[in-house]
Amino acid sequence: MIHAPDRIAAAWRAVESRVEAACRAAGRSPSEVTILAAVKTRTSAEVLAALTAGCRVIGQNRAQELAALSPVLAEQWAGPLETHFIGGLQTNKVNQALRWADAVQSVDREDLAQRLAVASQRRIDDGGSRLGVFVQVNASGESTKGGVPPEEALAFARRVASLDSLDLRGFMTIGANSTDAAVVAESLAVLPRLREELVGGRGGAAVEGAVELSMGMTGDLEAAIAAGSTMVRIGSAIFGPRPA
Ligand SMILES: *Cc1c(COP(=O)(O)O)cnc(C)c1O
Repeated sequence: MIHAPDRIAAAWRAVESRVEAACRAAGRSPSEVTILAAVKTRTSAEVLAALTAGCRVIGQNRAQELAALSPVLAEQWAGPLETHFIGGLQTNKVNQALRWADAVQSVDREDLAQRLAVASQRRIDDGGSRLGVFVQVNASGESTKGGVPPEEALAFARRVASLDSLDLRGFMTIGANSTDAAVVAESLAVLPRLREELVGGRGGAAVEGAVELSMGMTGDLEAAIAAGSTMVRIGSAIFGPRPA
């Protein structure tokens, strides 16, 4: 069932409760975990309902949807809001994305990082903010998923961290698409290891500040929080199933 705007507030609170319970079970504080609302295919009314309910971070998958929704939200929402880009980003869409995105979570190749660095520097020169970035890791190795292979992720993150106009915040992944809890947990264990190596200074200087782990979706948010997620990206549990 598609959630009507007046149902979204209740769904948002239910997700908050799930996050709180998962944090309790893991011995963590709920303040360590941000809920990002994944808003692909959703209308501005639906997104506004989530913002009104308390959502402060949204994630967009497509540059075109980002460009269509953002001006509407800018007009209708005066409260705090951070917009992240979480989908595959073509280099020719970088400038469009940078008009609206505070952070890009899907950085998974050198040419994209370079383009983002140039566009972010231009934005800074124009008085705007430094772009936040996450290195996307293909932790499960599934061929349908974006991201750098885990064994290349540390070196790649170091190169991204060396680009001054980018603010490396951490890593992002999509957990394994499996009904086997052990397989999912194995994929979710990759990011905490990478963060420890990067922040701990393995293979180079310690990279401070790259502490965010964006992982966990509607189906695996509890497992992701148990593994150390600091940002879960939730779509269907807030807005209902996506239209086919
Ligand atoms: C759609 C999407 C989500 C949210 O998925 P749900 O299963 O609907 O919670 C999270 N991350 C990314 C990258 C997505 O594209």
